[in-house]
Amino acid sequence: LPPVHAPHVVLLTSPGAGHVLPVAELATRLAAHHGFTATIVTYTSLSSPAHNSPLASLPACVSVAALPEVPLDDLPADAHIVTRVLTVVHRTLPHLRDLLRSLLDSPSGVAAFLTDMLCPAALVVAKELGVPRYVFFTSSLTSLVSLLYTPELARTTTCECRYLPEPVVLPGCVPLHGADLVDPVQNRSDPVYPLMIDLGLDYLVADGFIVNTFDAMERETLVAFKELSDKGVYPPVYAVGPFIRSVSDELGKHSCLRWLDGQPDGSVLYVSFGSGGTLSTEQTAELAAGLEASEQKFLWVVHFPSDKDRSAGYFGTSADRGNDPLSYLPEGFVERTSGTGLAVPLWAPQVEILNHPAVGGFLSHCGWNSTLESAAAGVPMVAWPLFAEQRVNAVLVSSERVGLALWARPPIDSDGVVVPRGKVAELARELMAGEKGAAARKKADQLREGAEMALAPGGPQRRALAAVISKWKSEAV
Ligand code: UDP
Repeated sequence: LPPVHAPHVVLLTSPGAGHVLPVAELATRLAAHHGFTATIVTYTSLSSPAHNSPLASLPACVSVAALPEVPLDDLPADAHIVTRVLTVVHRTLPHLRDLLRSLLDSPSGVAAFLTDMLCPAALVVAKELGVPRYVFFTSSLTSLVSLLYTPELARTTTCECRYLPEPVVLPGCVPLHGADLVDPVQNRSDPVYPLMIDLGLDYLVADGFIVNTFDAMERETLVAFKELSDKGVYPPVYAVGPFIRSVSDELGKHSCLRWLDGQPDGSVLYVSFGSGGTLSTEQTAELAAGLEASEQKFLWVVHFPSDKDRSAGYFGTSADRGNDPLSYLPEGFVERTSGTGLAVPLWAPQVEILNHPAVGGFLSHCGWNSTLESAAAGVPMVAWPLFAEQRVNAVLVSSERVGLALWARPPIDSDGVVVPRGKVAELARELMAGEKGAAARKKADQLREGAEMALAPGGPQRRALAAVISKWKSEAV
């Protein structure tokens, strides 16, 4: 147990497994390895119980506080999901201020305040109260650099960024085409666009960036970023990744793991689009047909299709409840593929799956946690980005520099265009049995070793955390 008045850290997280899981993991590590107590602050608005489930099994010294619900009914029904999230962040600031004040008045005080990548607008409250303030960035450093660039993009260009004639070359980053930048900057007339400019500026209120990345994945970007921070352009960066959840036996074995037990080593392609990634009905059918035609073994986590929204899976619809997403798969697909494939509804134990010897490839939406988990397990990927900063991650992992993934880059203005079954089958075969797949597997092995080094006792992860903690101590009020 921590001492009675162990130092206390407050971590604010936006909804969604990709945010809540790494924040919970960081809080747990700060408690277990560095003697902290922690409060994780969540938003009631936009949250669904499923996304808070990782918060149910935290150690006793990590508690959870939820900011009250705020009205959003004045936003248009089709408001971008990021508009909704950022509006909640703004409207709950008074509640956050009250919470931080009361924690500051408690015997443990607040050693530091951390927000995830979507909530830097909250840093100003910590600044006001004199609390050290940090962004815990749960995606790639490359995507942080691209978000820091948004104000300049808005100021120095006039066209939609996908039509920029030259790639955007950011310090230490793989070149990004305008179309690869995060999806909320793709439309200048959407009200989310100015919010993204503010987001880019809000990050600069931080005393530092704690980034879930590691040297073997983003060495050049880390080096370039450090140079800029040394010159005072940006706050310092601490590479504390990769956070990989420890595999627990408590849950009992999911049936898909028993199915994997019966498959040959390296033979199964794992297919998943994260916690919220959603395909259209037509794309679901083409993916199914492509997997079948590829004659590769597969394990597919199937979400309900949506023809409107690629992130629909985050919040589900009432129509989905009580339904089975597998019933949306093509007629006879499950029966025809029963020898070679397994379709699992909605959610599967991903870290366990990626570390199972039967798994030899991952067709992924390139959410950053999924990407890190694949790299740490030494599993090569096919990149299939859908929204948010997933294309930035896809460019990075499919670059020559990283080489972890195969990616069939779609042409500009191809939004809504379906990847046909033939292409799906070709990618699946290439990854599992082709030369490019073999090269990516080699790179994946090197990344696995790099991740092991980062996580070794006394290694870079512990050292980076210790460095940032010593800053909190010296900045303490
Ligand atoms: N995840 C999982 N099972 C699933 C889907 C997701 O365990 O069926 C976990 C996955 O291991 C990862 C997180 O949820 O840690 C998803 O985060 P990521 O950043 O990859 O994508 P997001 O869900 O934020 O789009």
